Amino acid sequence: MSVLLPKLATAAQLARAVLARETKPQDLLNSALGRIEAAHDLNALISLNEGAAEQAQQVENRVAAGETLPLAGVPIIVKDNINVTGTRTTCGSRILGNYVSPYTATAAQRLQDAGAVIVGKANMDEFAMGSSTESSAQGPTLNPWDKGRVPGGSSGGSAVAVAAGLTPVSLGSDTGGSVRQPAALCGVYGLKPTYGRVSRYGLVAYASSLDQIGPFARSAEDLALLMNVIAGHDPRDATSLEAPPKFAAGTPDGLRGLRVGVIRESLAGNTAGVQRTLDDTLSALKAAGASVGEVSLPELKYAIAAYYLIAMPEASSNLARYDGMVYGQRVSGSDLMESMTLTREQGFGREVQRRIMIGTYALSSGYYDAYYSKAMKVRRLLADEFNAAFGQYDVLLTPTSPFPAFRTGEKTADPLAMYAADVDTVAINLAGLPALSVPAGFEEVDGVKLPIGMQFIAPALKDELLVGLAGGLEGIGAVKMESPAGY
Ligand code: GLN
Repeated sequence: MSVLLPKLATAAQLARAVLARETKPQDLLNSALGRIEAAHDLNALISLNEGAAEQAQQVENRVAAGETLPLAGVPIIVKDNINVTGTRTTCGSRILGNYVSPYTATAAQRLQDAGAVIVGKANMDEFAMGSSTESSAQGPTLNPWDKGRVPGGSSGGSAVAVAAGLTPVSLGSDTGGSVRQPAALCGVYGLKPTYGRVSRYGLVAYASSLDQIGPFARSAEDLALLMNVIAGHDPRDATSLEAPPKFAAGTPDGLRGLRVGVIRESLAGNTAGVQRTLDDTLSALKAAGASVGEVSLPELKYAIAAYYLIAMPEASSNLARYDGMVYGQRVSGSDLMESMTLTREQGFGREVQRRIMIGTYALSSGYYDAYYSKAMKVRRLLADEFNAAFGQYDVLLTPTSPFPAFRTGEKTADPLAMYAADVDTVAINLAGLPALSVPAGFEEVDGVKLPIGMQFIAPALKDELLVGLAGGLEGIGAVKMESPAGY
């Protein structure tokens, strides 16, 4: 018997239903597979996990044996740069088109240990480089609010999976905004944890000093549930922190006396709808007893430049391993050099090639000091400015993106315009801080309703504050969680 549960059931509700024996993990898996099939045109997934049915059976056995698994039978989709044994992990790239993971990432393993069933792997910008999920070798993911628009990126498939209700929760990765920005453009929550809070073991590296895995969800309770499972120290990641997770969705009481600082530099260049959503959010916070002020971080004007001058050099060295010798696809030439050259020429897409070139240039002798080393100094100054702001405020607030979803193809010919889409998010990764994008409003563009996200930023290791805050915002009606028509 296959029970099609209400579409918008949360992960917490599904797990409770499984533990109460009201439904079975297999039924939840089948219903997720049905929804994935029905939403095929969105191109949100790269592959399905062939081991999912077996995992669902194992969860059923464990529940039958009396285990109270926090994510019992919850179907989940993870980004295609997160390794799961037996699945293809392509990172949206031709160069890894045939790569099958021989091991499972810590975050994914913890999900499975907690009873979740990984249904499939989400589409993404190639190697997580992008803001629109258009650079995937598998073609673009479409935004369910308007299929002529992008879902944001690079974790666009994971955001769409949750926005279109394919699974209640998903995982993405965020190096400069890749969880928060697609969450904002698709109208769901997206959390970028403090650097070191969630293990990067088994996450394919883009820019190692910035990468973090983070969850997408439709409720604060689910964010808490997921973070309590995936966060925590992992000896396999040298940058993993000893900070046991203690997440809970808060209540409106928690908003009373909260000091919220709006970052002045984020007030320019926003659409009218983004500005209105920011105003509405601030009014709601004040009505709930929070105090609101404005704070300036002048160094933010260098954030985009500093971010790309750090991310690209790290990428150029991380991606040196894809030479066709050990991993993935090989294009053979007449000698070693030619084989490697052909493999990289044909295996990598244009944006990845551009970044390897710029990154290598910025690290080369004679330019290192002018570019990479200077960017590292800006990074330090930015972190200091954030710290100073946290002397005055408990959380900082900006829009997640200055505009709602843009049209497919609108920015592909202009890399700098695409990079600028991250103007509100990259500084947080440079400073290593946690930040949450909250679906907070809508803007009508050409007759279509598009979601808008607000970004709350907390001091390092105060990730819990953000999830608590989300619960409070839900309690006062400031979270605008809706579903796109037809999903
Ligand atoms: N859009 C940014 C970039 O292209 C961020 C990507 C990410 O967070 N993975 O680098």
